[in-house]
Amino acid sequence: MTTKAILFDMDGVLFNSMPYHAKCWEQVCQAEGLDLTAQEAYLHEGRTAKGTIDLLTQRKWHRDATPEEVERIYEAKCKLFNALPEAPTIEGADLVLAAAKRAGLIITLVTGSGQKSLLERLNKAYPHCFVPERMVTSDDVRHGKPHPEPYLMGLAKSGVNAEEAIVVENAPLGVEAAVAAGIRTIAVNTGPLPEKALLDAGASQVFPSMTAFAQQFDEIVGRK
Ligand code: CA
Repeated sequence: MTTKAILFDMDGVLFNSMPYHAKCWEQVCQAEGLDLTAQEAYLHEGRTAKGTIDLLTQRKWHRDATPEEVERIYEAKCKLFNALPEAPTIEGADLVLAAAKRAGLIITLVTGSGQKSLLERLNKAYPHCFVPERMVTSDDVRHGKPHPEPYLMGLAKSGVNAEEAIVVENAPLGVEAAVAAGIRTIAVNTGPLPEKALLDAGASQVFPSMTAFAQQFDEIVGRK
């Protein structure tokens, strides 16, 4: 089957924002008496805020978080995050996007993020790659990753079948979501997790960087 579309996750794939997210989660959760380290935050990447906070309150207090707790913790996290400088791009992501365009692939974004300024930032960092019709954000879906819904919607917006697409992800839960949607998934390990975490989640291949993926892009996509 020919690959027709490539679906990109954003945080940790296009922007190096995960160190900021992880640090903010750690700081805010510890102030609330919840145990979360920045390192563990990487394991929950892609989960909704409520999903992450419930997991922590369950572990510590054996109950789900109240709506007030979720709102307070998530607001504090966003406030910290928004005060930080804009995250830099991931090295080599521009090369992967250039290779995808050269191969004539449909390019789609599938992110759990929902910031209003998303498209503007994407266009600034990666000109002429993304269009609003082919973007799935947290505003578009009911279920976050690892549920397949975001990637199923990504397929629908791309107008292709699962067999005609590949996904680029950096997080175990993101890989799980894409694999659950039936899509071949390439993982780029841009964070501190062991490669095994991504393979165990179902990634068909793991690259240490976007640059390394770009170098083998034509082979992987089968468009030599
Ligand atoms: Ca990610």
